[in-house]
Amino acid sequence: MNNYQCTACGLLVKHSGKPTGLGGCSKSGSGNHQWKDLGAVGNDAYRCTACNTTIYSDGRPNTLGGCDASGSGNHQWEKA
Ligand SMILES: [Zn+2]
Ligand SMILES: [Zn+2]
Repeated sequence: MNNYQCTACGLLVKHSGKPTGLGGCSKSGSGNHQWKDLGAVGNDAYRCTACNTTIYSDGRPNTLGGCDASGSGNHQWEKA
């Protein structure tokens, strides 16, 4: 089971294998809704300091610094 996050809207899902859908989450609208693999689901809670998305991961999620939601703010994972 891995965490996947949409790079456009920040939607977080847990899924084994890439979620179905044409490349991204099913929300329409502007932006590039692509799923990004953030690594295996674990037991440590991390919260994004900008959008309050919480992810469970063993160790820091597999991203460059922060959550992948676009928009303003500094999306950094912080251990909750
Ligand atoms: Zn999306
Ligand atoms: Zn965020």
